[in-house]
Amino acid sequence: MSAPYRTGLVWFRRDLRAEDHAALHHALLQCQQVHCVFVFDSAILAPLPRKDRRVEFIRESLVELDGRLRALAEHPQAGLIVLQGPADSLIPNLAQALGADAVFTHHDDEPAALARDARVRTQLARQRQALHTYQDHTVFERSELLTRTGSPYTVFTPYKRAWLARIDDARLAPWPVEPHAARLAPRPAEHCRPVPTLQDLGFEPSDLDLRVLPAGSQGAQQLLQDFAGRIDRYDQARDFPAVKGPSYLSTHLRFGTVSVRSLARMALERSRQGSAGADVWLSELVWRDFYFQILHHHPHVVERSFKPAYDAIAWETGAQAQAHFAAWCEGRTGFPLVDAAMAQILRTGYMHNRLRMVVASFLTKDLGIDWRWGERFFAQHLNDYDLAANNGGWQWASSSGCDAQPYFRIFHPVTQSRRFDPQGRFIRRYLPGLAALPDAALHAPWEASPLELQAAGVVLGRDYPLPIVDHATARERTLQRYAVVKTVER
Ligand code: FAD
Repeated sequence: MSAPYRTGLVWFRRDLRAEDHAALHHALLQCQQVHCVFVFDSAILAPLPRKDRRVEFIRESLVELDGRLRALAEHPQAGLIVLQGPADSLIPNLAQALGADAVFTHHDDEPAALARDARVRTQLARQRQALHTYQDHTVFERSELLTRTGSPYTVFTPYKRAWLARIDDARLAPWPVEPHAARLAPRPAEHCRPVPTLQDLGFEPSDLDLRVLPAGSQGAQQLLQDFAGRIDRYDQARDFPAVKGPSYLSTHLRFGTVSVRSLARMALERSRQGSAGADVWLSELVWRDFYFQILHHHPHVVERSFKPAYDAIAWETGAQAQAHFAAWCEGRTGFPLVDAAMAQILRTGYMHNRLRMVVASFLTKDLGIDWRWGERFFAQHLNDYDLAANNGGWQWASSSGCDAQPYFRIFHPVTQSRRFDPQGRFIRRYLPGLAALPDAALHAPWEASPLELQAAGVVLGRDYPLPIVDHATARERTLQRYAVVKTVER
């Protein structure tokens, strides 16, 4: 097959796999030889704590990717070039040094990534090199699905209907790499180095448990196989944090160690065979697409409410708000389900979806704290942190988003606890100090009798905090706080 370009460079970012990879596929078809690069971008890494589970996950995934590229090329000098520094200058520099005709990469619609890519494109153009970008992270993106009047969807149900109407085999077909892999080029001698260690990167090992979250494409396949045996029960199991209900694939989707097309293909097939679980799970992948296109069309959501009226809300500020926020972050609110959820994110970097909704509602509607504080905390701690989904989730919970929870629907943290962790198995796992309380008392220890507390060895205020707010009072304050929305919207 003749290729228009002599040399191409594939820039890996959040697509750390060598299968079903659009940019790599296109580069291999269009170039006689293809180099591959990943940049540990100093602009992204600099603000992170020195022990960061995501950096470790990425590094582990790169080690696998590097080996996989070498195996595909069947050349010991092939593999991944790994650089550290500012990506916006390192990529054009490398493209020039390699004499590349073009750089190939995937769309990334986060505002900072768009700005970075624009700078790279400009510099490459100065060097007479092209930048080709492809869709990969989502099944549909940007303006691919629009309403009949040509505007972006802001309500999920019609978006999902349009998504399902447009989905077909071609859309989900993989972008093969292996048949063209002979074009993967050996790395120049100066780049023939192993993937840098965490220490090389200025980081330290974190407490990421790679047995629970195995990295790389193989890790994703391991989790996927496990989930494939449970997917039919997803619709019933997904809301109970003590149960192994969801797929736990979010970090793999975040870093592209699995192709979203392959997951949607699997879910669609199973759903067509009548699996209610697969049907609901597919909807979650559609939610993911939905929030990506919201971010693309409404980038103001990064700073402000999707619905402008909600920017008029006066959130709590001052010393008490700071103290409440600290208690929420550290899992000391006195509401066991909230505190157990915060313990889960702090210890593992994961939080169950139901609990993300519960703690986000608690922060905004029980504590009256600006959703952006919680959004930032999640961004620091979630292994699967993704701007589009995180922002969408927070704006949903605070009612400021598109198709969000109405503001007068306020989760009761104790009712949620009784409904979704009825035997308190999740709470006991993360708050062992409360383990001996009877099930009925576990969800609201302040309602336990003195005898129950004594028998469980719990002194409230010493072993476990008293609730930092009264839910009924907080609810009234929230309804007053949100009343401003009606005035502004009128
Ligand atoms: P599963 O239930 O197995 O779902 C499969 C996949 O579908 C997920 O991996 C994810 O990619 C996608 N998905 C599921 N639910 C949603 C949703 N509501 N919105 C968008 N995509 C979804 N998800 C993130 O990937 N990154 C985030 O930073 C993030 N922040 C959130 C913040 C809040 C306040 C809330 C309420 C939700 C957030 N979510 C986020 C969505 C959801 O909680 C996680 O995707 C899910 O818990 C990940 O676990 P899983 O892979 O086991 O999910």
